[in-house]
Amino acid sequence: MLYHSTSGGPQHVSLFTALTTGVPGDGGLYLPDYIPALPPALFNNIAGMTLQDIAYVVANSFFGNDIDSEVINSIVNRTFDFEIPLVRIEPDHYSLELFHGPTLAFKDVGARFMTNMLSELLKNTSSDTSRITVLAATAGDSGASIANSIAGRSDINAVIFYPKGKISRLQEKQIATYGGNIQAVEIRGSFDDCQSLVKQLLNDNELREQIPLTSANSINIAHLLGQVVTYFHGYARLAAIDERKAAEMVFAIPSGNLGNLTAAVIAKRMGMPVKRFIAATNANDAFMRYISTGKYSPRRQISTVANAMDVSDPYNFVRLSELYGGSFEHLIADISCFTCTDGDILATIRDLYRSTGYLTDPHGAVTYFSMKRGLKPHETGVMLAPAHPAKFKSTIDAVLGQEIELPRTLAGLSVKRLQKVTLPPQLSAVKEFLLIP
Ligand SMILES: *Cc1c(COP(=O)(O)O)cnc(C)c1O
Repeated sequence: MLYHSTSGGPQHVSLFTALTTGVPGDGGLYLPDYIPALPPALFNNIAGMTLQDIAYVVANSFFGNDIDSEVINSIVNRTFDFEIPLVRIEPDHYSLELFHGPTLAFKDVGARFMTNMLSELLKNTSSDTSRITVLAATAGDSGASIANSIAGRSDINAVIFYPKGKISRLQEKQIATYGGNIQAVEIRGSFDDCQSLVKQLLNDNELREQIPLTSANSINIAHLLGQVVTYFHGYARLAAIDERKAAEMVFAIPSGNLGNLTAAVIAKRMGMPVKRFIAATNANDAFMRYISTGKYSPRRQISTVANAMDVSDPYNFVRLSELYGGSFEHLIADISCFTCTDGDILATIRDLYRSTGYLTDPHGAVTYFSMKRGLKPHETGVMLAPAHPAKFKSTIDAVLGQEIELPRTLAGLSVKRLQKVTLPPQLSAVKEFLLIP
């Protein structure tokens, strides 16, 4: 399989190049040259397959020509070694809980998959690149998954940028207490500043000649393709409960940078017999306005209680557009989108908990809200629950008027010491920092 840029450059690169450079360098993002179709008969048996079995089939269809099958098997077994349960909320509403990994966030799936892939490719390379630095900007949630997946490795470093004073104490502890090969850099600026710095660094050829750099999060094609697995798994778990429901299945998808949604579209293109998708956004609604008008016009970023979705100009929009061949009509045949206010989010958390006993985090609440808006009679909705509610403890406690318990992995963090540096939002300062041996 070769990979090309969404910006339309003529180059087609290998998996190794796509993963070790992270971005094509022309302002676009990598996509595989084609989307492999899974054999339709697979869907007759998928209800009996485990998460690891499904992950192997999906990963093998993309990487089978580039990586030995035992190695793919080992990558998926190391990545998908936690539960992803499908939980019934109401008769036609289910939640696919993606937050049972080590940092209690769905980004654990993509981050661990990407890290394991990268590590295997570096092992078998004859090129000079045998150690690489992953650069990531985080609004708080994704940084923890990246740090956790890379901490303690000898082949990969991570430098994680986050906006000073704009992430929770708990989130900061999840990123900035590893030390060693994980460098936490707090930027005196916004999340947008952090994203823009990472983009500039990744496109800085002079810097890249001195330090091999790559991307993380759904910018990185391995992270994105790892996420595709979770959709097949969600479909399989619903099919195991009720085949008729699976035939009328709609995924509701929490959307910020649209990586999640892009992975869903890839899964459908591979043959997953899902009906359609409902995208969910908070007040940062560039994608919702695109769906309703056909015009893409990002506005300024707005801070909300679902801060991992505070994205004004989602970078995966270019991948989605290409997957639909630039056709707005084809895109809206598969995808609808709803948006909500902070008031809607808080009311949803409270009302859902009171009426069903199901507790969801603010991003899950955005998703449930959209699912209820968008679902038609006879359809069954599966929302993706992207984060454990305890990660947003102060918001949840305030809404419910009671203290929720912290899971053990989070409770132990408070005693750990922060190891971070603080830098201004300037490329020169950040470059200088990276070049210190
Ligand atoms: C990253 C993230 C999202 C948004 O996912 P995208 O792939 O960027 O659209 C939603 N919720 C949580 C908790 C996240 O960490």
